[in-house]
Amino acid sequence: MSAGADPIRSVFSTDVCPNCGYSLLGLPDSGTCPECGRTYDQSEIILYGYARGAHENVGNAKGSRIIWIAGVSVAFGFTQFAWFGFRQFGPVIGWLTMAAVCVIPVLYGLARRSASGHPGLVQVRLSKEGCIQYDDLAGRSPLVELYKSYAWVLPIAGAIVLVALWRRDSIKGFHFWFWMALALALECYEWIECRKFRRLMHRARDDLIADWNAVYRPLQPWNEVESFSIQLTADETCRLRITARGKWMNHDVVDAEIKCSAEEIKSIRALLNHFIGIARSAASSPL
Ligand SMILES: [Zn+2]
Repeated sequence: MSAGADPIRSVFSTDVCPNCGYSLLGLPDSGTCPECGRTYDQSEIILYGYARGAHENVGNAKGSRIIWIAGVSVAFGFTQFAWFGFRQFGPVIGWLTMAAVCVIPVLYGLARRSASGHPGLVQVRLSKEGCIQYDDLAGRSPLVELYKSYAWVLPIAGAIVLVALWRRDSIKGFHFWFWMALALALECYEWIECRKFRRLMHRARDDLIADWNAVYRPLQPWNEVESFSIQLTADETCRLRITARGKWMNHDVVDAEIKCSAEEIKSIRALLNHFIGIARSAASSPL
């Protein structure tokens, strides 16, 4: 590590416990949190803020954007699922579908945001190994774990509904086989993903947000980072985006609004260039 990184680290020192949000002011730079018992040090720079882009939901968005996000979510549910529930199975199934797709996720997100005891609703972690954004700081999430463990049930349910529609003559020929093939392909994918997730969960320790978030999103190494941008927006807030190469397409590993001054933006930019530069020079140097 070059000496140039040290002043940057002092600007972004860890002064609240990354795991539970307890204030570490007056305590040594590294040690054990008196509140949760998790060890902490200065090896990671941890920024707090609100999610944007693909990371954003009711549970981690800026307060001023909640109504807009909830409205889009409900409108999407109505346009995509209303025909299915109401037209095919009547008002009872229709409203139950709407509640499951639109209302419950919004209420769940609102409950999650009030349960976070941290200075922000997302954490952006930067270390020499890589970067990652943790989108949910409210601890374990039974609903997300249930979904990620057993999402393989959904394509099967979809296939059963397709058969029911086919028997009622509501879907025919090409459409039936197209959606059935899609459901079966999705089933194979979900089965593998759910199995992977359940295995990872066994490794995570209770009540450690870092471990639980790491199950959802593994650290992105710097050599897979394609680009980044950091721009000052209104009221001393900046939007930080870090884009990585994926197997199929690029994706934003980090997309967050964080509180920082123009000077701090310069420090973050220097730090990211430093980490990415090291990774690229290591990748291009001969073995
Ligand atoms: Zn703690």
